[in-house]
Amino acid sequence: MKLQDLIEQVRDTFNTAIESCHNVKDIQDVQIHYLGRKAGVVTNLFKELGVSAVEDRPSLGQQINDLKEYVTKSLVIREQIITEKLEKKTFVDLSLPGNPEFIGRLHPLTLIQNEIISVFEGMGFEVATGPDIETDYYNFEALNMPKDHPARDLQDTFYLEDGNLLRTHTSPVQIRVMEKTEPPIRIISPGRVYRKDTPDATHSPVFHQLEGLYVDEGVTLAELKGALLAFAQALFGQEMKIRFRSGFFPFTEPSVEYDFSCIICDGKGCSTCKDTGWVEISGAGMVDPAVFEFVGYDHEKYTGYAWGMGVERIAMMKYRINDIRLFYENDIRFLEQFS
Ligand SMILES: [Zn+2]
Repeated sequence: MKLQDLIEQVRDTFNTAIESCHNVKDIQDVQIHYLGRKAGVVTNLFKELGVSAVEDRPSLGQQINDLKEYVTKSLVIREQIITEKLEKKTFVDLSLPGNPEFIGRLHPLTLIQNEIISVFEGMGFEVATGPDIETDYYNFEALNMPKDHPARDLQDTFYLEDGNLLRTHTSPVQIRVMEKTEPPIRIISPGRVYRKDTPDATHSPVFHQLEGLYVDEGVTLAELKGALLAFAQALFGQEMKIRFRSGFFPFTEPSVEYDFSCIICDGKGCSTCKDTGWVEISGAGMVDPAVFEFVGYDHEKYTGYAWGMGVERIAMMKYRINDIRLFYENDIRFLEQFS
């Protein structure tokens, strides 16, 4: 190979070698390989000069010198790049202002649900949960609503293609727990429920319920009233009152609707409570003996009470919110008001 071509080849291989240098040690190796005094690739080119034609020597010599200078400079530049990168990795400027991180917070419904749970846990209730997709049996039948029961017509249910459904209440959890557990039972079951409601200020097709169940020997309706009053006072203040009105549910007998005194007007009457002084909360009652039969409890021996409540409803009262849809719009300006 002619010396001229050899010079070009060395330049090419050097360019490749320098690109693959990633630390100072690599640089030193390449430097020795190309510029080493005894056997460096560039050094050897000078030796070749002695066997080339005399008239070509000045030009070739100049080219080899240029190459040597190029190699030397490239090695210095590469080393600078590498050490700068290393410095960047380890250098911390403590005087720079920090980057504020956005800290998330609990959703108001989670906050209120936690608060409700904490009150009932204080009364000895334990949290029990169940699936959102339920069978017809757990959602209706075992709750004393057989196929032809008129109460089923009241429920606008999301049925799935396989015959299962999205639970319309969290009561199926009560059945599931009672099937597996002997009394005494004291549970609350919070969770999502689904109904074919058109969304408006007070309705949503998905909302949250929390139900309670207490089964033991000698449980009475008076104890239920006491528990709900204690809850109302824990959440809204000692001046809260509660009242029962007669109601009807297939799974309780007797059944009641319960109201809390209006927290806006302290029971004096206002537009929120339609001048009654009372705000309707939900339903409750003594567990129907027929339900006990489904789960194999002796209804001669045991009695129990159960109640439901809408978490959104309680949250709307507590936070004075007049539109349920605000909970689901994920508007950060709304959500960040709660902590
Ligand atoms: Zn009122």
